[in-house]
Amino acid sequence: DEPVLRRPDWLKVQLKTTGDFQDLKKIMRGERLHTVCEEARCPNIYECWANRTATFMILGDTCTRACRFCAVHSGKPTELDLQEPARVADAVVKMGLRHVVVTSVARDDLEDGGALVFAKTIEAIRTARPECSIEVLIPDFMGNRASLQTVMDAHPAILNHNVETVKRLTPRVRSKATYERTLELLGRAYEMNQGIPTKSSIMIGVGETWEEILQTMDDLRAVNVSILTIGQYLQPTRKHLRVARYYTPEEFKALKDEGIKRGFRHVESGPLVRSSYHAHEQATGAAGA
Ligand code: SF4
Ligand code: SF4
Repeated sequence: DEPVLRRPDWLKVQLKTTGDFQDLKKIMRGERLHTVCEEARCPNIYECWANRTATFMILGDTCTRACRFCAVHSGKPTELDLQEPARVADAVVKMGLRHVVVTSVARDDLEDGGALVFAKTIEAIRTARPECSIEVLIPDFMGNRASLQTVMDAHPAILNHNVETVKRLTPRVRSKATYERTLELLGRAYEMNQGIPTKSSIMIGVGETWEEILQTMDDLRAVNVSILTIGQYLQPTRKHLRVARYYTPEEFKALKDEGIKRGFRHVESGPLVRSSYHAHEQATGAAGA
């Protein structure tokens, strides 16, 4: 067994809470909602919430998949909660959000993979708080085209679907997903509505090579993805995949340059970058594009 790598200093963030932050947490408890910000113990939570950005996880807290990097509980999900879209919208209003990311666990047990609840959530938020831009980070819906269409028809500001890792490591990292299906989904979304920018995220440090990262960028550009985020993988618990390598801030900067060179309109690349980090800035850019 290889030794566990020590976390470099640039990954140690100072946590400070304010009264504001505690108020927001109370709202979440009251609405029985799940944010990825809290559940993934995201290091950016103070900055994001202060900037009025948050990521909600809908369709319950139990995932039908068990990806080896992910801390979300997996198992057999409970039934569908049809009041969820209204509760999310209510929380968006109470938190005064300017940008919201709506994501979900994979619900392979549902015929449409939960696409209708995504659409209803987008509609409920738009009605309750029209000034808030809405990004969806969707599962692959098992390649179901109609499900993707349902979400696209609700017209999110950004359609996000994460490739997560390079082709070679996909079977090891994302149990049931395939690299090809991810690219297919992103390409289809672009064809369905070119006015909705597509976005994807690569998590590095799981054993990929530099060339493989560049190849993944090329593959994403080939299906017209315009927004890219790149972040460092951190092992959530001892049972999860080990970190193979910590990239330096300079390497992240070099990857950003590679992304811009390839024609991505917006690239966020840094050790603590998560899929929804600085997402409100990307949405602002999207409005003018
Ligand atoms: Fe939440 Fe995403 Fe910000 Fe993390 S980066 S705090 S998950 S909105
Ligand atoms: Fe986590 Fe998504 Fe994989 Fe489920 S499908 S285990 S929520 S990354």
